[in-house]
Order: sequence, then C-alpha cells, then structure tokens
Amino acid sequence: MTYVVGLTGGIGSGKTTIANLFSELGVPIIDADIVSRQVVEKGSPLLAQIAEHFGHGILTEQGELDRAKLRQIIFAHEAEKQWLNHLLHPAIREEMLRQLQACQAPYVLFVVPLLIENQLTALCDRILVIDVAPEIQLERAAKRDQNHLETIKNIMKSQVSRDVRLSYADDIIENNLPFERGLVQLQQQVKHLHTLYLQFAEEKQCQKQS
Ligand code: ATP
Repeated sequence: MTYVVGLTGGIGSGKTTIANLFSELGVPIIDADIVSRQVVEKGSPLLAQIAEHFGHGILTEQGELDRAKLRQIIFAHEAEKQWLNHLLHPAIREEMLRQLQACQAPYVLFVVPLLIENQLTALCDRILVIDVAPEIQLERAAKRDQNHLETIKNIMKSQVSRDVRLSYADDIIENNLPFERGLVQLQQQVKHLHTLYLQFAEEKQCQKQS
C-alpha cells in the first residue's frame, strides 16, 4: 500500500483548508466524509437496506438519502443510531481501505475528522494533527456553519481532547493565525511536510523491495 499520512483535527480546526494546500501540490486526498457519503449514494445496496429499515420516507424525491431526517431519528433513538453505525462503519472502513490500496501516488493524504476516535490510526504511516486554540476553533466553526456556540461546544466535547489528539501527532500544523497573517506560513509548512513525506514514502518503498 502507498504511504499513508492521516490528517486529523477537531471541528473547524482547518483540515479541509490544509488538505487543499496539499492538493495544490498534486497530493491525492481520501476524505472520510466523502467516503461516508459514497457508500450510501443513490442505488447503493446500503441505501436500500436503510430504506427497508426506516421506510421509504427516509429518501428524498430524487431517491437520495434524506440526511437531515436520518439525523433527527438517530438523535432521538440510541438503538437506531447503533443499528446504523453497525451497518455503516464496516462498509466505510472497507471502502476507505479499497481507495487507499488503489492509490498509485507516492503518498496519500487520508483526511479523517475522527481518526483517533474511530481507531483508524493503524491504517496510517504518519499522523498530522491540525491544532488550533479552542476559542478560535469555536469561533470559526460557528461562523462557517451559522451554528449555535452550544452545538459546536457539544461536538467538541464528543471528540477527543486537544491533549489526547496531540499525543498521537507525528507532525503538527498550528492554525491559529488568521489567513491575512498566517497563510504564507501555512503554505511553507505544507511544502516542507510534502518534501518530508515524499522522502518517507521513498524509504518505505525501498524497504519493501529489499
Ligand atoms: P470540519 O471538521 O468542521 O469540517 P475543518 O477542520 O475541515 O472543519 P475548515 O473547514 O478547513 O476546517 O475551516 C473551518 C472554517 O475556518 C472555514 O470557514 C475556513 O475558511 C476557516 N479557516 C480555517 N483556517 C483559517 C485561518 N487560518 N484563518 C481564518 N479562517 C480560517
């Protein structure tokens, strides 16, 4: 398998922002949020199972999953949440692995918000954590999603703590400065890590061949 760099961070920490900087350098991205949508896309066997379990009212008129409705149901019914997780988690993991194994580039960036919480660190050769002060995280996430601060705080509480996340990090990008003052520095850090990851990937390749 290609060299895998797991990128994680709390809600609103800047994972997508930083992943985009790697993407600009030509690095392929496998994004857990995208995979979790792909496994239930229209016409998929999993979507059929979900519709059978919850009724066809869980689909939109276009035959797609009505995520807002599903969220409401599982928020109110723990057993339904568990049923859904049992169905989806193995399928998402399998699809992530399939995409990782199909990757031909020297290394791939594996962007997973709940990398640590869902024990996916074992799939990674190296872990890059995007770190940001909680008050900035709260402010940016609330502004982006026009969400109540309480909702963001609850999501933050459901994720691993900053300290635990940092304890898994091989590399850390601090994303505290606003773009006006920090973007150039972020780009430089990404370039530096890109060079490092290419080196590590080559070393892994050499080890496999020897
Ligand atoms: P989530 O896990 O919630 O999807 P994320 O970790 O992918 O979030 P982003 O979407 O990259 O985070 O960033 C959250 C918001 O903060 C976005 O609106 C983004 O434009 C903004 N943002 C990220 N970094 C900075 C920065 N350095 N300065 C100003 N705004 C930033």
